[in-house]
Amino acid sequence: MKNDIQIVRTAADLSRVTESWKAENLKIGFVPTMGALHDGHLSLVKLALENADRCIVSIFVNPTQFAPHEDFGRYPRDEVGDTAKLAGAGTHLVYMPEAKEIYPDGPVSTIKAGKAAQGLEGDFRPTHFDGVATVVHRLFEQVRPDIAVFGEKDFQQLQVIREMVAAHNMGVEIIGAPIIRDAYGLALSSRNAYLSADELNAARQLNLILSATTKGGNIQAAKSAVLAAGFTKIDYIERRWGRLLAAAWIGKTRLIDNME
Ligand code: AMP
Repeated sequence: MKNDIQIVRTAADLSRVTESWKAENLKIGFVPTMGALHDGHLSLVKLALENADRCIVSIFVNPTQFAPHEDFGRYPRDEVGDTAKLAGAGTHLVYMPEAKEIYPDGPVSTIKAGKAAQGLEGDFRPTHFDGVATVVHRLFEQVRPDIAVFGEKDFQQLQVIREMVAAHNMGVEIIGAPIIRDAYGLALSSRNAYLSADELNAARQLNLILSATTKGGNIQAAKSAVLAAGFTKIDYIERRWGRLLAAAWIGKTRLIDNME
């Protein structure tokens, strides 16, 4: 299915469209992304379209969720390719704001993430979830969706968003989407584009080791196996929320994954 996708870059233009949709009583679904889109993102669009009449996708590489030493500058960007994929998936509107549209007073986090942000990612990226909560809060104010879809790929982020929406009474229904993987079980990620062929082979071991560990395996043994597979550093492999969650590095690339 191909739509004529609308491309919008300012909050003012965005609200003209959403106002007209709301006047028609159309339910608005929203998928926030940082672009460099893959089938994982498109599965979120599909879920949004199943749960709403209109689907808005935002593409914004959010500076406040990156620490100064992280990959904000080299994060992959592909506006033209992304827009074509979104049109093909039936997206009605893509919102690609400039930073000043989101952060008129400069890129600072003004929303504090709640308890779900503690531990795991929070130990290794201490400012990350305040940045995520801030940008999602801001995007929700501008888009005013009825529902929003987030991937379980970022499982802790999904918990942080649910908490933020409840704490701020934002009245947006949050839908979690299952992780989309490649033929080898590797969770799709925009950051997989950083991997060399050898690194990709190593990356594809992580899901196998996690899966074995969910079936009664020991976490220390999992950590040894991940390093033996070619990962260079493990931030964590830990059980929480009835899941096994992991973050590990291959050279300069940090990958995360989790399983029930
Ligand atoms: P990002 O562009 O990395 O900020 O991701 C945007 C949304 O897509 C987030 O809700 C992610 O959890 C979700 N997402 C990313 N990768 C996947 C995947 N492999 N499967 C499902 N959802 C994903």
